[in-house]
Amino acid sequence: MEIQFLGTGAGQPSKGRNVSSLVLKLLDEINEVWMFDCGEGTQQQILETTIRPRKIKKIFITHLHGDHVLGLPGFLSSRAFQASEEQTDIDLYGPVGIKQLVLTSLRVTGTRLPYRIHFHEFDENTLGLILETDKFTVHAEALDHTVFCVGYRVTQKDLEGTLDAEGLLAAGVPFGPLFGQVKNGQDILLPDGRQIIAKNYISEPRKGKVVTILGDTRLTDASIRLGLGADVLVHESTYGKGDEAIAKKHGHSTNMQAASVAKQAFAKRLLLNHVSARFLARDVRQLEKDAQSLFPETHVVRDLEEVEVL
Ligand code: ZN
Repeated sequence: MEIQFLGTGAGQPSKGRNVSSLVLKLLDEINEVWMFDCGEGTQQQILETTIRPRKIKKIFITHLHGDHVLGLPGFLSSRAFQASEEQTDIDLYGPVGIKQLVLTSLRVTGTRLPYRIHFHEFDENTLGLILETDKFTVHAEALDHTVFCVGYRVTQKDLEGTLDAEGLLAAGVPFGPLFGQVKNGQDILLPDGRQIIAKNYISEPRKGKVVTILGDTRLTDASIRLGLGADVLVHESTYGKGDEAIAKKHGHSTNMQAASVAKQAFAKRLLLNHVSARFLARDVRQLEKDAQSLFPETHVVRDLEEVEVL
């Protein structure tokens, strides 16, 4: 499981940072890629990566500001140019209005898609568990921005212990139904009188990962709830230390506020994105350093950077 950042800038594209988009790569887990926000130019950013558009099966939008959604019509249209056997449906989750934006863009531009978009819109009253599959759940909760904006908490369900098949073979257990019995936790007796204790051949169940991806927000308790115990918390950092008043005014956060959220949520790592173009490379290092004084496992990400969820 990896997160790759396609755009890490705030508001408008700059030479170093495109506008908001990231993908959660779940290729090993379910052979899918999930996109979060799709600012203008996202499809060009994808060209710089190994991501295949047809693998993007779900898109989650945090809010309807242009720097988070205006890449959608282009991306969805270009995705139609793949070979016909490669066309796969898309599920699109986002605030009420996202359907109108997409359908209007497609209609006005005379675009017909060879695949289907399944819209899942929500508002303040229909948030919570927005998706559950056999391997993942996704929760959304409202944040505190200048428009309705949400954060997403992606939880991987715990993974069953795996069977040590080689160990069983080495112990002289013939391949076949006995393997199934051990997998189900039953001890077995071999013809030669030896007993095979099942739990010695099944690894411990593994805890699923939690990834929290927040949209634009002021400092709010909702961020802490969404990020509780997260393996990775992605938080905006439009402003730097000392800018708390102006951040609040514009509905955003500082690096220090993001760090305090990560700390209070007992998150394992904090990745800062949505960085203003006025921060030069030197300032970005300072942004990171200042946040680390509060939450050491902080990193300011850059465009196209890929981070493994450990
Ligand atoms: Zn915004």
